Amino acid sequence: RFFLDAPITSETVEIDGAEAHHLLHVMRAKVGDSVTLFDDSGAQFAAEIIAVSRKSATAKVLERQEVSRELPITLTIAAALPKGDRQRWLVEKCVELGVTDLVPLETERSVSLKKEKSLDKLRGYVIDASKQCERNRLMRIVDSTSLAALYEAAPADALRLIADPVATLGVSEILPSEPTNVIIAVGPEGGFSPAEYETAIAAGWRGFRLGKRILRIETAALAAAAAVAAAYDR
Ligand code: SAM
Repeated sequence: RFFLDAPITSETVEIDGAEAHHLLHVMRAKVGDSVTLFDDSGAQFAAEIIAVSRKSATAKVLERQEVSRELPITLTIAAALPKGDRQRWLVEKCVELGVTDLVPLETERSVSLKKEKSLDKLRGYVIDASKQCERNRLMRIVDSTSLAALYEAAPADALRLIADPVATLGVSEILPSEPTNVIIAVGPEGGFSPAEYETAIAAGWRGFRLGKRILRIETAALAAAAAVAAAYDR
């Protein structure tokens, strides 16, 4: 499976850059090989390699296939990003679980993610994970957002949840039986401050906890995403 960064609308397409490297030098593709292409339109395309050079390949598009592997809801994870490899783990597993949007969250106790380069790196992880788990839509990663901005921007018709060990309800006790769009806020290593948590509750967010243990950021985010996916995805 290979990702094309532009809509696939013509009979032949060029595969270049990192995807060409993967196709030609890792998978060692040859003329006549079958590939599946996707372009974030939600569909995938059966194609055949018809020409190769050292740095690019040309594929003939044979068939557009409507294959959706999306959740029936939008699921947003707004999380203070962990560091290093744990960041990659978080992004990769969010893609696998069907998260639609990942919002890097700035909180009182977290550092902001400002560099465009960092976002590019995260989006690269999204493409790799989408190829592996066969999603045809890319999980969106937006610029980092403050908690206050998240409260303002979050649509009121979405179920707004905030993970905190001080809460008493579990996710399954809050989720309605009918599929509903969900936004989940997860705090930084130092946790949400009491004021941040109380502001969220006052703004209509529902607190929940994930058992009695203190989970790392990525574990909390993924446990919550998995609970929502398990409730609504079939
Ligand atoms: N000492 C911090 C505290 O008490 O909140 C621990 C923060 S934890 C490493 C990072 C984030 O993961 C928390 O802010 C919370 O959003 C989430 N989290 C971790 N364990 C959790 C639990 N048992 N229930 C709900 N959320 C949890």
